[in-house]
Amino acid sequence: MIVDVLIAGAGGAGYPAAFRLDKAGLKVVMADPKGELGGNCLYQGCVPSKTLRELAHLYVRAKKLLGFNETIPFEKAQDHKDFVQETRFKQHKQELAESSVEFYKGEVEIIDNHHAVIKDEKGDVQVEYKYLILATGSEPFKPKFPGSEYCITSDDLYKYKTSIRKLPKEMVIIGGGYIALETASIMNALGTKVHVLVRSDRVLRGLDSRLVSSLLSMLDKNIDIRFNSPVIEVQKIGDKDEYKVIYSEKSEKKEISADLVMLATGRRPVYPKGTEKLGLAIGKTGIMVDETIVTSVKNVYAPGDVNGRSMFFHSAVRQSLVSAHNILAGTPIDYMDFQSVPISVFTIPSIAYVGILPEEAKRRGIDIIEASYPLSKDSRAQMYDEAEGEVRLFFERGSLRIIGGWIIGIDAPTMINEIGTAVANGLTARQMANYADQHPMSNESISYAARSIF
Ligand code: ADP
Repeated sequence: MIVDVLIAGAGGAGYPAAFRLDKAGLKVVMADPKGELGGNCLYQGCVPSKTLRELAHLYVRAKKLLGFNETIPFEKAQDHKDFVQETRFKQHKQELAESSVEFYKGEVEIIDNHHAVIKDEKGDVQVEYKYLILATGSEPFKPKFPGSEYCITSDDLYKYKTSIRKLPKEMVIIGGGYIALETASIMNALGTKVHVLVRSDRVLRGLDSRLVSSLLSMLDKNIDIRFNSPVIEVQKIGDKDEYKVIYSEKSEKKEISADLVMLATGRRPVYPKGTEKLGLAIGKTGIMVDETIVTSVKNVYAPGDVNGRSMFFHSAVRQSLVSAHNILAGTPIDYMDFQSVPISVFTIPSIAYVGILPEEAKRRGIDIIEASYPLSKDSRAQMYDEAEGEVRLFFERGSLRIIGGWIIGIDAPTMINEIGTAVANGLTARQMANYADQHPMSNESISYAARSIF
């Protein structure tokens, strides 16, 4: 088959480009071994984990505000998660049916630049393409140590129709990134005793340390986070789901028992078989792309997790569209703004941030003015008795243009989008202060924060 564009992977980096290019009249073929659209995010990542997070939060709120004291039926929570995933699979099937995109269930293997084969379940499909979009995403990185085969990853916990349907009593999570902390918060809220083993002396490496320490001070104290505690070995006890996790702390060997052990030790890009035949430049994080999302080979684009620059679904969607626009124009007409991508850590409570934060501003020599508002004064935070945390905005001294912001506490992942829009469009403190944010919703705190410097 001869096509204009072949897309490998149908996640956030794949299908938005497929539909955009199809709408413009190009012949598009897309393939994914999952046979569903939505990628790892929908199948075993953000959608299912955030579904469980919403339910866990609901449970915490019902206990705190209404004295609800039943234990949570974890099986029911997992059923609801599966239902949300099914709903979205169906929605995507409908979108596919309304388009002319040809979709195959199978892996793409590269033969050379301009030729590939789709290993469809019904047989091989040979494809000749003008443009190639590599949107094959990422997978959990699993370090090898004795007993590492007994550890699950977040994929196993959150995947569609997972076999993990009984709430673990005691769980060890190995890692200190956002997946480790989110899962720790969710499982702790649902009633599991959670231990987090962090190799170094800090979590969320690379993130502004003030933001990280605020989050840590607000996390439920029942979550047992152990720093400088690299894992040595996981042993299985008997033939039931019982494990002993051996780790080192201050050069002493220690151990914790658990009925579930999860590795959350980062994600690595996935390349289709034969990718080396394209001769693409590969960098530290993945396939190298510039802001037009083109690779070092001019008819090959690599949006999303596969380039490792910003491994989030919403970032992948935007990068996917940038790729589609540049393919359509045949010349760069669209650029990805990596700096204005909002990022959230969906712990309970959550944090979110966007743009340039103080430590980064200092590194770049940007002089900033900070404006903040405590969520203890926010009416919606008071309604939920979650009146802690803050909204903090960072303006460039002089122009008073917003360059970044963070939210710690209630509705952070929702609210950050308003700050992100302001950052992406270079709004000034005055413009933000003048906006009549909806009362009594937490967004009000954003304009209150901006007003604090006038
Ligand atoms: P992103 O957010 O960048 O789209 P995801 O990891 O969510 O990343 O999605 C990537 C998708 O690519 C997954 O659904 C995965 O099954 C698919 N995939 C991985 N390897 C191949 C391949 N060789 N051919 C086609 N699809 C692939």
